[in-house]
Amino acid sequence: MKYVTTPIYYPNGDPHIGHAYTTILGDVLKRVANMNGEDTFYTTGVDEHGQKIQAAIEKSGLSEQEFLDNKADVFKSLFDSLDIQYDFFVRTTADKHIKVVQEFLQKIYESGYIVKKKYSGLYCEGCEMFKRESDLDEHGNCPDHQKKPIVVEEENYFFRLEPFRDWLVEHIKNNPEWIQPKYFATEILNMLKEPLEDLCISRPVSRVKMGVPLPFDDKYVTYIWFDALVNYVSSIYEKPNKDQLWANSVHLMGKDIIKPHCIYWPIMLKAMGLEPVHKVLVHGFLTGESGIKMSKSIGNVVDPVKVINTVGTDALRMFMSTNVSDRDIAVSERNITEFYQLMANNIGNLHMRSCKLLEKYKSNVVPDAKLTDEDSQLLTQISNSLSSALKSVTNFAEISALSNALLQACSEVNSYVSRKEPWSMAKRLPETQDELDSCLYTLMDSLRIIAIALYPIAPNTAKKILDTLQIDQADITVVNVVPAKLQAGVQIKEASILFPKLAVDSTEK
Ligand SMILES: [Zn+2]
Repeated sequence: MKYVTTPIYYPNGDPHIGHAYTTILGDVLKRVANMNGEDTFYTTGVDEHGQKIQAAIEKSGLSEQEFLDNKADVFKSLFDSLDIQYDFFVRTTADKHIKVVQEFLQKIYESGYIVKKKYSGLYCEGCEMFKRESDLDEHGNCPDHQKKPIVVEEENYFFRLEPFRDWLVEHIKNNPEWIQPKYFATEILNMLKEPLEDLCISRPVSRVKMGVPLPFDDKYVTYIWFDALVNYVSSIYEKPNKDQLWANSVHLMGKDIIKPHCIYWPIMLKAMGLEPVHKVLVHGFLTGESGIKMSKSIGNVVDPVKVINTVGTDALRMFMSTNVSDRDIAVSERNITEFYQLMANNIGNLHMRSCKLLEKYKSNVVPDAKLTDEDSQLLTQISNSLSSALKSVTNFAEISALSNALLQACSEVNSYVSRKEPWSMAKRLPETQDELDSCLYTLMDSLRIIAIALYPIAPNTAKKILDTLQIDQADITVVNVVPAKLQAGVQIKEASILFPKLAVDSTEK
């Protein structure tokens, strides 16, 4: 049993390529676990509270409910078109979630770790929001209002983190696999060298309406983390196997939110008497080409919907899976299109040429072949490499390793065809009949093995190949990534083109 979560996203704007990135990776983890015979529960969703949402609703002229329903649908529809098999879509305005947030707040308040005190901050009257120094431009102005924020004092509730600092340091040191890659655990340990400031967890209702009311003071709503992070517990709260899910929970995230997830959240859980999440997987950012930050003004923002419309879902999924890293990766429509072409030359080419050869020399019937040693070795080699890659996927680096192993396997089989020249064997029949049969069987069985291993990353492409080979979807399991399982005598279907040529102007739009 594995419980996989993405962060919940802010729906004040439309979903962007970064949302697609994390959510695709979660889906790959889920599918791999399923293929290994493990049950999964996968959640993603939206955080519908806070001042930015409130401002976006006011600007839209829609009712709160209409606005939030529309936005949830936009996110869901992106995830559907990315073939994300989420089991639960989080919405923080749901009553069940609010109830659990209030339970957290009340219990921790009663234990004395929540205190009320004066808060002073930089407040932009235009945005009606507190700003951090880092939100301001070089003149100290709000970039949206070209105005200096004023210092505002207000009373708020704070969560005391410092009493838990030593415990958290110990927890990280005793669980070296907790935060992956380890580099980020070191970063968290560095943050824990200094005493932890109290975390502000409230906003007055007079200023922020969109939030969960504090159960012990209705003049306040809770602010960001006590609401958003609790989704990981509220999403499984009513499930009978919630303890088992929690013991095998994996939080996925970008590196910008490791502090709340690896400091605030484990401390909140500890204060509730709960265990920290089992594993935290962290990836870097997506940037525009040449590592330049994506921004509308530069015009290098990659729209996931446009990418899907151009190259389809699988090329984007495989691009992300191959390139995922703790470092920042550059993304543009151009390099995703190039990746699509690579997949066409690699997987697409292997599929088409293998099926064409079988059609030409065996009328599409898989031969009953006695494999040569060389052919048998090739099948053993690719199935070993792919099945061990599939069995070891527990983090982002291993997703990338699986993706690269797939590209590598296709290259090997493609060069095998070029080297063996089955068309030359066909000229020397009948004495080459056994050799030709062995070669054709090897090609078709390689395709089967590759398609099964491809499924978690590029499910549509995998299903198309398996459908051509007349293989049932129930056979998409790691157990079947073994050599020579393709049934002889099967009549395969006519192969369809997996990666059609793109319209010439599609990359220039
Ligand atoms: Zn402002």
